[in-house]
Amino acid sequence: MKLTGKVAFVTGAASGLGKEIALEYVRAGASVAIADINQAAAEATAAEIAKSGGKAIGMAVDVTSEEQVEAGVARTIKEFGNVDILVSNAGIQIVHPIEEFSYEEWKRMLAIHLDGAFLTTKACVRQMKKSGKGGSLIYMGSVHSKLASVLKAPYVTAKHGLIGLARTMAKEGAAFNIRANVICPGFVRTPLVENQIPEQAKTLGISEEDVVKKVMLKDTVDGEFTTTADVAQVALMFAAFPTNALTGQSLVVSHGWYMQ
Ligand code: NAD
Repeated sequence: MKLTGKVAFVTGAASGLGKEIALEYVRAGASVAIADINQAAAEATAAEIAKSGGKAIGMAVDVTSEEQVEAGVARTIKEFGNVDILVSNAGIQIVHPIEEFSYEEWKRMLAIHLDGAFLTTKACVRQMKKSGKGGSLIYMGSVHSKLASVLKAPYVTAKHGLIGLARTMAKEGAAFNIRANVICPGFVRTPLVENQIPEQAKTLGISEEDVVKKVMLKDTVDGEFTTTADVAQVALMFAAFPTNALTGQSLVVSHGWYMQ
């Protein structure tokens, strides 16, 4: 599947899943904006891509800031001429029992995952309609868009919410050839997950090995982690798929942890 001549705006693309998706899109021929709150890491990722002959720009974007999102999308359009693909991927994780969540933590989680998706969608859809070329909106959900786990109330709430946004955008975008889909990965060993392992071990009073085996991978078909490469392949398919036949969907890539 090729993305020749396409332009992608990928949030949280300086690390983990977002970075792998950006690299995969460049390999498929796209130009990519690496938008991340971590400016140094975003610029380093863009430089890494440029060194191997790809087209990328790194930029500081906090997805909860309307001003920064608007400026980031405007810069992408100025430098690359358009935006064809949005990957709303930036995210964090905080794990506590509900009564230990401060209101600030709850709002921060919903802001990064949901406000970030709203603000980036709004900015990119405007351009997708203006260009007349349509586009692909891709949201990074999770198996937690489909089911719940203890200690993750705001994360599960936000990830379920993204499915509602994608379905709405599939309907609003259809007449403009704008598609919207959600990727729902199982556990992938990115920094977001590495940090959770000791935290969950402490909260649940079990070893880190047991967090991996008995919590994270317990219900997979083979006890395996999903990889960034697995998720990037799904992101490529959603980006390259040419018609509205594939829209409003959420695809689980989780070694069978959740089967729909
Ligand atoms: P990661 O920590 O490796 O990367 C997240 C990136 O998002 C980082 O570069 C970080 O700087 C950036 N970021 C954080 N807050 C931001 C903000 N306000 N604005 C812009 N950028 C911001 O984590 P990851 O595992 O690659 O997670 C990426 C997405 O995948 C998240 O939405 C996460 O919920 C989702 N996800 C991850 C897993 C997993 O197992 N790793 C599974 C399912 C879904």
